[in-house]
Amino acid sequence: MTQRLITDLSRDELLAWVEATGNASYRADQIRRWTYGKRVSSFDEMHDIPATLRASLAEDFTFFASKIVRHQVSQDGTEKLLLEMRDGENVECVLMREEKRQTVCVSTQVGCAMGCVFCASGLMGLKRDLTTGEILDQILRLDRLLSLEERITNVVIMGMGEPLANLKNLIPALLTLNEKGGMGLGARRITVSTVGLPEKIHELSEINIPFNLAVSLHAPNNDLRNEIVPVNKNIRLERILQAADHYFEKTGRRITYEYVLLSGVNDADEHARELGELLTHRNAHVNLIPMNDVAPLSLTAPSAPRTNQFVETLKSWNVNATVRKRKGADIDAACGQLRLEQESGGDPNLHALEINS
Ligand code: SAH
Repeated sequence: MTQRLITDLSRDELLAWVEATGNASYRADQIRRWTYGKRVSSFDEMHDIPATLRASLAEDFTFFASKIVRHQVSQDGTEKLLLEMRDGENVECVLMREEKRQTVCVSTQVGCAMGCVFCASGLMGLKRDLTTGEILDQILRLDRLLSLEERITNVVIMGMGEPLANLKNLIPALLTLNEKGGMGLGARRITVSTVGLPEKIHELSEINIPFNLAVSLHAPNNDLRNEIVPVNKNIRLERILQAADHYFEKTGRRITYEYVLLSGVNDADEHARELGELLTHRNAHVNLIPMNDVAPLSLTAPSAPRTNQFVETLKSWNVNATVRKRKGADIDAACGQLRLEQESGGDPNLHALEINS
């Protein structure tokens, strides 16, 4: 039988194991401090834990969920890992550096079932959910790429997959990120990005911790959204906005709306006006994301003047908007691209995805 992952255990579960194996209960917090706070890579490095306890930990648990199969470093300091989970599935995660800010972007599923037409992760459908430990493992791996002066300041759940479709495993991971005895990261430094699943947005608001919520809107009306984000046919925009409004009321956190700009598809003045009208009375921020090229897709980003015009139109509706900076372009850091390349093997249609680092 495969060993359990240490990161799959909640604090209470670890405490139960510690006590059941005849150890003092404070050892549970000590093990968690080593795991999440001190960048060790094995139980053996947990120096102030008795050798016998370290040995039983190693017997019952695995420390890392993954092995690193690819590690790329961009000229702008962005780093990207392709991790192979214990069943051979590949998962991507990214570390982005800005002055005084180190943001990690992690995945929640292998592949994705949502099928957004511009997204690399959706091209091969959903393979499986990641476990809580596999989500946290990406953060541990990226944390160990940092220098001594650096630390993770922000976490964005914006990698492969639809986070809210795997809320059961995501919530314990969010709690560990947030807990003092875990990573100790403030809720406002953690952002969950969703295609917009209303019931799940409600569920997330129920845990009453003000994580940031980013909703991937991509279109200002149902007709267009049905084409770009096919799951919208069963959801509808109005219900997503309602759920997001409720999230804002409950948590006090301003909602971010993500909007991928696709040239000739959703980037006209008319779309910006419609979006402005939709959001003008909401406390919202729009994050415009120029399309990142995904071979074999033919969708592209609009020109800079078109993008600026879109921002200006939104501003004329009093809607706050920013354009997302591109990071790690030379290592194809947009989610799903590396796994897509790895998996596509001999498929000539997918072969254009070459990594040029
Ligand atoms: N399933 C979640 C997380 C997806 S990734 C969601 O839908 O929000 C985070 C963001 O990147 C989403 O807004 C997603 O739509 C966007 N994205 C995906 N592929 C992209 C691409 N090729 N170019 C630009 N943005 C993309």
